[in-house]
Amino acid sequence: MPIADVSVAPISDGSVRLSASYFANVDWRRDADLAPGDGILRLPIGAYLVEAAGMRMLIDAGLGPRHVPWAEGGRLPLELLQRGVAPSAVDMVICTHLHLDHMGWLAVEGRPFFERAVVRFGAADFAFAVQRRPRSDPNRQIIEALDRAGCLSPIDADDIELVPGVRAIATPGHTMGHISIVIGSGSRQLALLGDAVTLPRQIERPMWMNTSDVDPMLAAMTRDALWRRFSATGTFMTAAHFPGHDIGRVVVHEDGFAFRSDEAASSRFRHRGRRVRGHST
Ligand SMILES: [Zn+2]
Repeated sequence: MPIADVSVAPISDGSVRLSASYFANVDWRRDADLAPGDGILRLPIGAYLVEAAGMRMLIDAGLGPRHVPWAEGGRLPLELLQRGVAPSAVDMVICTHLHLDHMGWLAVEGRPFFERAVVRFGAADFAFAVQRRPRSDPNRQIIEALDRAGCLSPIDADDIELVPGVRAIATPGHTMGHISIVIGSGSRQLALLGDAVTLPRQIERPMWMNTSDVDPMLAAMTRDALWRRFSATGTFMTAAHFPGHDIGRVVVHEDGFAFRSDEAASSRFRHRGRRVRGHST
């Protein structure tokens, strides 16, 4: 089956502020180069515009127009418009998981913001990230608004094709329904990992655990499986909060793995996006 070209461009809704203690078990003396002087890590709220098979897709939907003490968002619609895409032109939104900094623009004032878009996410997040929250919780209110509008299409299988050249794989642990998106195929793949990993250093240190992981051990096991797979396939990867939308590859290093940022590819990605060429299989 010929696979059409897919283009991917990073966009950002703003930034999150994570205290150094967000990583529960990090010895910051060992990784002093990353330790924030004021104790606060500032990381982008990443999202991606993906164009494939004649469809425009948004991977993750930012924090949205709301004030929270741990983040500042609101830029995503402007960044989409700068790439020539109005909210009404988005055909599909894929949320890696249903935490607020990845779903905030899905609904505004009780209405779908991307009015034509079908919204896809890992089905297990409906219970973990929505149903068990109080009625006043914004995550729950957003998903209930989309449910009323008939926009939701949960994913309940591993490794499924969403459109030609765009697959969703199950990467549970941060949330139980967390999914990652793999663009392209064969040796030409780019994986968008959401919050399966927060910082590139976690590839060397897979046991760094986020305090917001629903199941920290499962999250660490998911990361280990991803690094084994990507180091074997040469897959490019990035994640929602990687500083500067850095992309790179996972390499075998000592008795584990390490991230090798590709500066040229990251610079092109930031400025022009990335095109994953189609090929025949
Ligand atoms: Zn996040």
